[in-house]
Amino acid sequence: MSLMPDISRDEPAREQIVQLLQEEYGVSGSLSRLAGENINYLIHSDKNRYVLKLASRERSNLVLDMEHRAEKFVLDSDLELQVPRTIKTRTGKIFAELAICPDTTLRARLLRFLAGTPWDELEQTSNELLMHLGETLARLDLELSNFTHPAMHRTHQWDLTALSQHRCKVSLVANDRQRRILEWMLHRCAAELKLRLPSLPKSFIHNDANDENLLVEGDRVVGLLDFGDSLYSPVVCDLAITLAYVMLGQDEPLAAGSAVVAGYHRLRALTEDEQWALFPLACGRLANTLAVAVDRRKQDPDHPNWFVTEQRAWELIDRLYEIDPVDAAIRLNVNLNPPGGASTQELLEQRRRYIGPSLSVAYREPLKMIRGRGQYLFDHRGRAYLDLVNNICHVGHCHPRVVEAGQKQMARLNTNTRYLYDELTQYAARICSTLPRQLNTCFFVNSGSEANELALRLARIHTGRENFLVVDGAYHGNTSGLVSISPYKFMGPGGSHREEPWVHMVPMADGYRGRFKGQTAETGRAYAHEVSRVAHRVDGGIAAFITEPIWSCGGQVVPPDAYVKNAFEHVREAGGLCIVDEVQVGFGRVGRCFWGFQLHRVVPDIVVMGKPMGNGHPLAAVVTSREIAASFDTGMEFFSSFGGNPVSCAIGIAVLDVIESESLQDHARTLGDYFLNGLRTLAESHDIIGDVRGAGLFIGAELVKDRQSLIPATEEACLIVNSMKDRGVLLSTDGAQENVLKIKPPMVITEADVAMVLRCLDDVLRGL
Ligand code: PMP
Repeated sequence: MSLMPDISRDEPAREQIVQLLQEEYGVSGSLSRLAGENINYLIHSDKNRYVLKLASRERSNLVLDMEHRAEKFVLDSDLELQVPRTIKTRTGKIFAELAICPDTTLRARLLRFLAGTPWDELEQTSNELLMHLGETLARLDLELSNFTHPAMHRTHQWDLTALSQHRCKVSLVANDRQRRILEWMLHRCAAELKLRLPSLPKSFIHNDANDENLLVEGDRVVGLLDFGDSLYSPVVCDLAITLAYVMLGQDEPLAAGSAVVAGYHRLRALTEDEQWALFPLACGRLANTLAVAVDRRKQDPDHPNWFVTEQRAWELIDRLYEIDPVDAAIRLNVNLNPPGGASTQELLEQRRRYIGPSLSVAYREPLKMIRGRGQYLFDHRGRAYLDLVNNICHVGHCHPRVVEAGQKQMARLNTNTRYLYDELTQYAARICSTLPRQLNTCFFVNSGSEANELALRLARIHTGRENFLVVDGAYHGNTSGLVSISPYKFMGPGGSHREEPWVHMVPMADGYRGRFKGQTAETGRAYAHEVSRVAHRVDGGIAAFITEPIWSCGGQVVPPDAYVKNAFEHVREAGGLCIVDEVQVGFGRVGRCFWGFQLHRVVPDIVVMGKPMGNGHPLAAVVTSREIAASFDTGMEFFSSFGGNPVSCAIGIAVLDVIESESLQDHARTLGDYFLNGLRTLAESHDIIGDVRGAGLFIGAELVKDRQSLIPATEEACLIVNSMKDRGVLLSTDGAQENVLKIKPPMVITEADVAMVLRCLDDVLRGL
C-alpha cells in the first residue's frame, strides 16, 4: 500500500487509514488492501478482524444509511446468512469521514470481518453447493421483499433495468466479434425488459451476489457481502446476476446455472416471465460488466482491480451467444415449455400447400414470429428484433392500452353503422380535430385499398369525370382499380406495363434520381409543370390527382419544395380534385406535423388513411369535405360491414390517445432528426449511401454502386438487409430497383435503438 493517497482512485494513504481507525474506532492492527473493485481494507487487530469499506464520492449519506439498515435487517432476521455488521464510531455514527486531500472527503464504514471462502477462490463447485446458493438467494429475496427505504428507488451503473446507459460503449470494443456480441446482448436484454418488465415482481434486492461477495464453507453458502448496489428492482435480477458469475469458467455453464435456479425455485417459485427473463438478464449482466470494463480501460488501463472478471466474462458470453435464448431458458429452468407450433420449414411447406403463391416472405431465412412488444418482435428461437419497418404498429406492437381498448369493446358490443353507438361519432370527431376545418366528413372502411377505392369513387361522382393523374412509381392498393393507378405494380414484375386509358402518369418528383435534380422550389416547380402539362392534355378532364406526401413504395422519396403546392394549383385549375394518400405517412410520423400533406402547406380535398390507424387492427378511412360527401349521396347507400364498427373505433381512439399521451409526434421529430443525421454521417464514410432523406420517422437511404452513375446497389441492399437481420434489426428495401433502405419503425423506438442501428449499419457496410 502506498504512502501517498491516490486521489484519482479514491485510495487514501496508509497513514490516513491508521489514524482514522485509531481516532474514530480505537482500533489498531495490520492493514492490507483487499482485492476487488470496491475500496476495502482488511484490518487484523489483536482480537478481531475487520473490513474498512470506503464509500465512493458519489454515494449519498442516505444510500449509506440504506446499506447499513438492509444489512441490519438481514442480521435481525432468521436467515442463516452472515452479512456485514457495522461497528459504530466512538461517537455512535455508522460512518466516519476521511479527508484524503483538502477537497476530497470519503466516508468509511468499519465492518466485522466475515469468515468463509469467497466463491471466486473455489476450485470446484458441487451440485449441492450450487443448489444451496439458489436456496440462499431465494430466502434472501423473500426476506428483503419486506424491506423498504426511501433511497431504494434509485439507479446506477449496475442497474440491470438501465442497461441502455452502456450501449454507447459498444463502439469502444475493437474486436469485431466481441463488439457484435456485446451489441446483441445489450439489445436482447432491452427487448426482453420491454416485453416483461411490467409483469416481473419487484422489491428491494441485493443486486450484486457476485463471486467476490459470496462466502462459502464446504457445500454451503454462509455469507454475502456488500449491499452497496442494492435497489428496488425486479427480484429475478438477484438470481440473474448470480448466474452470470456462477457460469464463469464452468465447462457446462448452463448445467451449473440450472442447479442454482432449481435451488432457488424450490423456495421462491419463479413466475413464467421470470424464467424467460433469466437468461437474457444474466447475459445482460455479463454485458454490463464488459461495457463498464471497456469504458474504464479508457480512464485507467492499469487499474489493479477493475478488469479481474473481464477475460472470463468474454469467454462465457462468447459461448452463450451461440445458444438460442429459448434453448438456454429451457436448460436453465427445468419446467419451462418451449413455444409450440410448427417449425419454419413446416410452415413454409404448409404455405405452399394452402396459401396463394404470390405472397412473399421476407429474408433468405424466413422468421417465425411469436411475440411483439413496443418496437420489438421476438422469433420462436427467442431472438429479439428491432422492427424498423412496421409503420402499422404505429404506437408499438401490442400496446397495452390499445389491446385493452379492443378487448373491452369486443366483450361489450360489436355491431355496424346501421345502429347508433357512441364510438363512431366520437372517433370521427377526434379524427376531424386533427385535420383542417374543411376536412370534416368521415367514411370508415377496413383497409387502405378500400379507402383509396372509395376516394376514387368520391372524386368521380363529384367531378363527373373519369380520369386520374398518378405519380410514376406510386402504390395505392391491391384492388383492380388501384393496381391500375399504381405504376409500382402495373409497371413492375407481372404488370401490364401500360396505363389504362383513364390513368395518366406524371413523373415522380425525385430530386436525386429524376430528370430535375435537387430539393429546391425551382426543381419542385419544374416537376409540377409536368402535372399541369399532363392534366391539360387529358381528354374529358381529370377527376383527381392522387399522391402520397412522401412516396413510400416509390423509394421513400421526399418531393422537393413547392412541388405539391404547385401541382395542386395546376390540378385545381384543370378542374380536378387533390387526393392525398396518408396510408403510410400519417398520424404524426413525419414529426413536424400530424399529417404528411401539412409538410407541403396544402389542404387536400380528400385524405385517405389506413395502416397506423388501428395499430394493426384493420381500420382505414376517407375524410373529405361536406360538399364532396354530399355529391356522393346519390341515393345509393354506402355500407361497409365492418367499417366503423365499435371495436375498430375504440381501438382507433386508443391509438390517438397514446400518440397524444406519449407525445409520439414530438418524439418522431427528435428521433427522426437524430436518425437522419446519423445516416448522413455514415454516408460520409460509405460511398454506397448515395442519398439520405425523409421526415421524422419516415426515412430512406438510397444505395448506389457509384455516386456519379447512380447505378442502383440492389444486391448490396439485399445483403445489408439480411446481415442487419442477423444482428437483430429488421429493415427492408423499396423503390423500383429495391435499392432504398426503408425505415419507418413503430414510433416508440428509442435513441439507444437508433444508435445501435447506426453502429450495426456501419459494421455491416464496412464488411460488404
Ligand atoms: N396506399 C399506400 C401508400 C400503401 O402503402 C398501401 C399499402 N402498402 C395502401 C394504400 C393499401 O393499403 P392496404 O394494404 O391496407 O389495403
